[in-house]
This record gives sequence, C-alpha cells and structure tokens, in this order.
Amino acid sequence: MLETWFTEYHNKNVSFSLRIREAKTYKSELQEISVLDSYEFGKVLVLDNTIQLTERDEFIYHEMIVHVSAMTAVLNLKPKRVLVIGGGDGGSVRELLKYDIDEIYLVDIDKSVIETCIKEFSFSRCLNDKRVKIFNESGDKFIKKYKNFFDIIIADTPDPKGIAEVLFSKEFYSNVYGALTDNGILTVQSESPFYHADTLRKIYRSLKEIFPIVRVYLAPIPSYPSGLWSFTLASKKFDPLSLNKERIKEMLRRFSTKYYNEEIHFACFALPNFVKEVIE
Ligand code: SAM
Repeated sequence: MLETWFTEYHNKNVSFSLRIREAKTYKSELQEISVLDSYEFGKVLVLDNTIQLTERDEFIYHEMIVHVSAMTAVLNLKPKRVLVIGGGDGGSVRELLKYDIDEIYLVDIDKSVIETCIKEFSFSRCLNDKRVKIFNESGDKFIKKYKNFFDIIIADTPDPKGIAEVLFSKEFYSNVYGALTDNGILTVQSESPFYHADTLRKIYRSLKEIFPIVRVYLAPIPSYPSGLWSFTLASKKFDPLSLNKERIKEMLRRFSTKYYNEEIHFACFALPNFVKEVIE
C-alpha cells in the first residue's frame, strides 16, 4: 500500500514529517487551509504548509500561552475583558473560558480558519460560547481602536511572515500597550529559541522598551520546529513570579489542565544558558 506523508520544512536543511491517512483542503482568500488526519498526532491544522496545531500536543501550547498571564491577572484582580489576537482555532479561548472573565474578544483575520476549525475540531466549538465575541480583521488595525480596555491580551499568532508579520512590530506592541488597562498583561508566542533566536531577541527587546516587566518562558511542543518553544510575557504591573504557589494550586482545583500547574508556573521561567544569551 502506498503511504502518504506530509512534510513541513523547518529550514532548507531540516524537515518534520507525519504519516497521514487523509488531507482535506479548505478554501480561503488569504491562505491555504488544510486539515490532516495523522497517525501519530491526530488531526492537524496546517496553514500555508505550516503546522498550527495537532490534537495530540495542542494542550501544551494553549495552556502555556494562556495560563501564565491569566493566572497572574486573576490572582491580582478580576479581569473583565480579554483579547486573543489570531487564535482562530479557539484553543486559547477554551483555556480562557476556564476563568470567571466577562468577555473574551477574538480577532482573527481569516473567517475561514474559524469556520474550518469549528467543523473539524471538537474543542473549537468553544468559540460559540456566549462570552466570546469574534471579529475578522487584521489584529494591527483592530488594536488601534481600543484604549485602556483589555486586562489580558494573548497574541496567538502564526510565524512572523506574510499576513502575520505586522503582529511582531514595535508599533503593534505599542498599540497593544495602549489597549491594555493599567494592570494589563500581554503574552506572545515568540518562536523557537533554537531556530529563531533572532526573532525571539527582537520580540524581547521591543517589548522591553515598552513594558516594565518582560519575561521569557519555555515549553516543549513536539510538533513545532525543534520541539522547544518560547513565549514572552509583558506586564504593566503584575509579575508572574510574585504569585503565591498555594493560591495557584487552590485556583487550579476549579478546573483541569494537562500541562500547566503551580510548579510549571515558576519552573517555565528557568532558562538554559543559550536562551539567556539570546535575550541578553
Ligand atoms: N498556535 C499557532 C502557531 O503558533 O502556529 C497559531 C495558531 S492560530 C490558527 C493563528 C491565526 O492567526 C490564524 O488563524 C490566522 O488566520 C491568524 N492571523 C494571521 N495573521 C493575522 C493578522 N494579521 N491578524 C489577525 N489574525 C491573524
């Protein structure tokens, strides 16, 4: 029997391949959307030949992009409004819905990603929750309309190229700062410290010029390039490292997580020397 494989090229010398049963392609005016049925990682969302998530390991990415800042906010105040930029698959929204937050805004430039995910991934149906407000436009234009409005912003973006490149500029981060309340916290996915050190450095330095508290943390994401992923948290007031471990533990009795816990909350900020060198 002929085997079918999907291959994502991480650079011109390295690739990651999955044996698949089936590949479906959906229509979008902005990007090619595919959903693969893979043997090892379950269903996989691919945009323009780049893996966005797999059913098998998406929990690590989504829990880690959300809970570190959400927990920091929730243990210091009651967040009213949260914004997810990108994130049309709903994974970050699913994690945010675990908290008592009044409204969750999601702005994804491509309506077709949202429609495809709701059809293909059971977890994406959380996007139909009445606390979720969905907007379809570019995050950089959307953010300029809000001042002092969101308590948490999660930049759940693809890699910094094509339509997503604007979501990594210093001007965008300044507008995010303006859209956050005085207690606001931003978390961005900041790529692989192994393959994309320059990108991580640029993100870190840009945020450092704008926010008083900026911290990089790590998580293993097996289906992403190098398997080691970074996130950068930028905060106006609250430091994720000043939380009380027992209070995190207590909050986590209210809902379940598969990766994030009160120990990971602190341990994820322990950086290997080569990552420290990237951001120094
Ligand atoms: N977890 C993912 C990753 O790291 O690869 C990101 C997943 S999520 C599917 C990314 C979403 O960002 C996509 O649905 C895409 O349509 C959206 N997106 C890309 N550029 C955007 C922009 N300029 N404004 C808002 N959303 C954007």
